[in-house]
Amino acid sequence: MAKGAFQEALAYAQNREQFGKKISEFQAIQFMLAEMAIEIEAAELMTYRAAWLIDRGLPFIKSASMAKAYASEMAERVASKALQIFGGSGYLKPALVERFYRDARVLQVYEGTSQIQRMIIFKELLKI
Ligand SMILES: Cc1cc2nc3c(=O)[nH]c(=O)nc-3n(C[C@H](O)[C@H](O)[C@H](O)COP(=O)(O)OP(=O)(O)OC[C@H]3O[C@@H](n4cnc5c(N)ncnc54)[C@H](O)[C@@H]3O)c2cc1C
Repeated sequence: MAKGAFQEALAYAQNREQFGKKISEFQAIQFMLAEMAIEIEAAELMTYRAAWLIDRGLPFIKSASMAKAYASEMAERVASKALQIFGGSGYLKPALVERFYRDARVLQVYEGTSQIQRMIIFKELLKI
């Protein structure tokens, strides 16, 4: 979802013109897109690390919970920035980013809420 929202926003920013320029030429937009890319990569690496630990039969619970909590909260932040880049049109139903934003929100609820992930992480921290 985060990647989809990011790709939509990146394409839109290079197309939409305001004040005689593509909005991708505004540093504020560039920074939002860069932050989105940073967060997506961080979540991917956290997910691969948890999978790497599982594949090797190593303790993975803390890393898996961290990856789930971070990636699900990241997806909402990234989808929110994507919607911001779309401006008003991003809030309207036909916009894909509106759907990404709404769908991303529930990721923090199912498959273990963000609060439960933090409880698990803390329990694992006590074992160190
Ligand atoms: C779209 C969707 C699809 C779903 N699909 C499935 C599915 O396929 N299979 C399945 O089994 N379930 C599914 N669920 C259910 C989902 O797993 C639960 O909604 C989720 O676990 C939260 O449980 P709850 O809704 O009863 O909230 P509650 O447990 O009532 O939690 C409410 C709030 O209290 C917090 N909370 C609860 N206990 C604690 C605690 N001990 N300490 C701190 N905070 C706490 C929670 O984090 C949350 O913020 C789905 C839910 C949704 C929305």
